[in-house]
Amino acid sequence: MSAADPNQLDFPPVRNGVDYLVSVVDHLTADPIDPRHIKYAVLHLQAATEVLLKARLVREHWSLVFEDPGAASERAFRSADFKSCTVGEAVTRLRNIVGITITDKEQEALDALARDRNALQHYGLSHNARAVEARAGRVLDLLVRFLDDELLPGLELDEANAIGADMIHVRDGLTGVQTFVTQRLRRLRGELQGHEDRTVHCPHCEQLTLIAEGATNRCLFCGATVTTPEMMIYVYLGSPDDEGGVIDICPRCAQHTVMLDTFLATGDRVPFCFNCPGPIPTAADEPPADTPRGRP
Ligand SMILES: [Zn+2]
Ligand SMILES: [Zn+2]
Repeated sequence: MSAADPNQLDFPPVRNGVDYLVSVVDHLTADPIDPRHIKYAVLHLQAATEVLLKARLVREHWSLVFEDPGAASERAFRSADFKSCTVGEAVTRLRNIVGITITDKEQEALDALARDRNALQHYGLSHNARAVEARAGRVLDLLVRFLDDELLPGLELDEANAIGADMIHVRDGLTGVQTFVTQRLRRLRGELQGHEDRTVHCPHCEQLTLIAEGATNRCLFCGATVTTPEMMIYVYLGSPDDEGGVIDICPRCAQHTVMLDTFLATGDRVPFCFNCPGPIPTAADEPPADTPRGRP
């Protein structure tokens, strides 16, 4: 079942990838959805990602799926006896060699999925299920578009017919997953109302549904909690030492907890203090006590 199994290259890879996606949407749209559904959705989604991205590379040239294309041989490819490139490397080759646009955001979604897959395989579902589910939905969306743009148009008629019914099932499933997310966000709108200037992206599910409270920060979409302002900044920046001009001292509470470029539910990007949660007024916002400098 491992997606890394090079024997998979013997099978029609697009059909194989779509078959994994059928399993993914069945698990993601299960009602009720339990941790086991999430586990198999993530495992099969990662398998589909690998199969489908590499199918596009093979279409460009079979040597591109080798870990080292310079050492590729047709004989090794035919017998599926070779070390295949990683998903990350496949994305880089699709971008640089095939010329396919994969945005940084899409790349992030793929990286997050790979992390979820590894965590699941080693520790079981320790992450928040709703967050994993939301991330899986993004990759599913990406792969359906990748199929539409890059893979389905080049298929032989037989092959296209063979996966037709499965593609309808996958598209319906994707719509179901998206509807679920939309409905959930709509239900939360009332709870978030009035807190827009303290509502930021959740680092776990990436929805704009985390209300910064200072000591405890809870995401209303996925339920993840992030304790302490320092931890909020840590999860955003990846490292507490990454100061590089993005963290500043708060003029209100004097803590080193202002993130300069924080996107809020108001639609603004502003300096934001996670300790005394709220935007930091800039010179332009200050009351006209003294003459504004440098403004027309
Ligand atoms: Zn969340
Ligand atoms: Zn502050």
